[in-house]
Amino acid sequence: MSTPNDAAPVMVACDLDRTLIYSAKSVLLRGEDHAAPRMVVSEVYDAAPLSYMTRAAEDLLVELVDRAVFVPVTTRTHAQFSRVQLPGSGTGYAVSTNGAVLMQDGEPDQDWSDHIRRSVQSDSAPLGEVLDRLTGPRAVPEVLRVRTAEDLFVYSMVNRQELSAAYVADLTGWCRERGWTTSLQGRKLYCVPAPVTKEAAVAEVRRRSGAGLLVAAGDSLLDAGLLDLADLAIRPAHGELESIGFLRDNLTVTSAAGVMAGEEILRFAMDAVDGVRPLAPLATRG
Ligand SMILES: [Mg+2]
Repeated sequence: MSTPNDAAPVMVACDLDRTLIYSAKSVLLRGEDHAAPRMVVSEVYDAAPLSYMTRAAEDLLVELVDRAVFVPVTTRTHAQFSRVQLPGSGTGYAVSTNGAVLMQDGEPDQDWSDHIRRSVQSDSAPLGEVLDRLTGPRAVPEVLRVRTAEDLFVYSMVNRQELSAAYVADLTGWCRERGWTTSLQGRKLYCVPAPVTKEAAVAEVRRRSGAGLLVAAGDSLLDAGLLDLADLAIRPAHGELESIGFLRDNLTVTSAAGVMAGEEILRFAMDAVDGVRPLAPLATRG
């Protein structure tokens, strides 16, 4: 952990799906319909709304973008990311493709992409080998469709009800031996080369931006390294990390699940910017 510099801006690195923005299926609203929070559309796909956040969350994000180095960090491809409209979109830093693409003011940084591809070539088995594992003789019917993202990693749509934990465990071990990692999020199963991480890209943004305290939020295994890197981390009370009981000394878990957790995460980040939040968790560390 670095020593936060009081004079440097706070950096907030935030996963998108099921952390900041939510599909209709993942908003998990509780209580009476008439008491539901007002929501805004954060993503449109095929001319229909696809992802949402609460209006209060968007208001918080407007302020956060102004007062901190706010960095959206997503496993989405560059094209999938560009559909998401957030306050400050197209300005500042953003990370897509699970860390393989680092953008500044909407422009991908070629040096960073080249660096990542060289690391993948030296440390991980070729993409084709993983594709063969998923689609060849060892394919299972529960893995419905297999896609590649920017010729870099693989994601599959799966039948979550039928997919066995044993298959995922076996695939995970097989991938690990070849320098790849796996993550199961909703109906998507990801296989990603080990050097392609959110935390590596966020560390690079932190270096370039001169930010001090790092606040990070995420819900899946692909966010775990980012949460570990952060001075202050927060995750929602839902998702892959919730299902494995992921806890750390620097980590807070939201009290809410679903879209209200997204709002809670932004309040947490704003408290960190205001200096309300950092002292207690940092003081408990040896
Ligand atoms: Mg997520």
